[in-house]
Amino acid sequence: MARVLILFGPPGAGKGTQASRLSGALALPHVSTGDLFREHRAQGTELGKQAQKFMDAGQLVPDELVLDMLFERVSKIDCAGGFLLDGFPRTIPQADALARRLAPRDTVRVLNLQVPDAVLLERITGRLTCQRCSHVHHLKHSPPREPGRCDKCGGEVVQRSDDSAEVFGKRLAVYRQQTQPLEAWYGARGLLANVDGNRPPEMVFEDLRSQGFPPQASPEARSA
Ligand code: AMP
Repeated sequence: MARVLILFGPPGAGKGTQASRLSGALALPHVSTGDLFREHRAQGTELGKQAQKFMDAGQLVPDELVLDMLFERVSKIDCAGGFLLDGFPRTIPQADALARRLAPRDTVRVLNLQVPDAVLLERITGRLTCQRCSHVHHLKHSPPREPGRCDKCGGEVVQRSDDSAEVFGKRLAVYRQQTQPLEAWYGARGLLANVDGNRPPEMVFEDLRSQGFPPQASPEARSA
């Protein structure tokens, strides 16, 4: 049985930041489709080149490109017991494809981070992302100790090309139109819980952790 936790919410809601912490707390690998595309771009793969034009325009990458990449990632052995999805699904066909792929015994939970639009804009336009480990700093709220360097791994932190105010406006419009309908889709299946994401990250984390899955006991603990 796999545990599938989906962190849902608009760009800037805190999905990436919370997912990297939750991944450790719940012992689930963090799978971010945005990070996977950025890795492809950095490696100069054909998929990375195809995705880039959509990402730079604030649009969604077409479902078929996303699905192949995502399913390849979650078929790896570290995902056998489950995984934590960040930035996927973003359309109803993606959610449908995921549901068809999971086994009936698998459990799915969707945690929906809710944050007002003005706060999203402020977070996104001040965001600095590490090019090496994807850790996120904020120019004002959590600036790197050494300017331009990630506190976590020492990699270079930069503003993502799609984190400008202009592209953010497009990403938010795309979210409202194509992604937000998933709230009703998962809500109707009894899988969705709303979480107030407009609070200090520590409080949001505790709330998400209490609504997620309990960490799995180790095989030794289970047989004891
Ligand atoms: P993120 O890092 O989650 O903000 O994603 C950055 C960009 O990658 C998005 O604006 C999309 O262009 C693309 N992307 C990431 N995940 C998906 C997805 N599930 N479906 C379509 N496009 C995606």
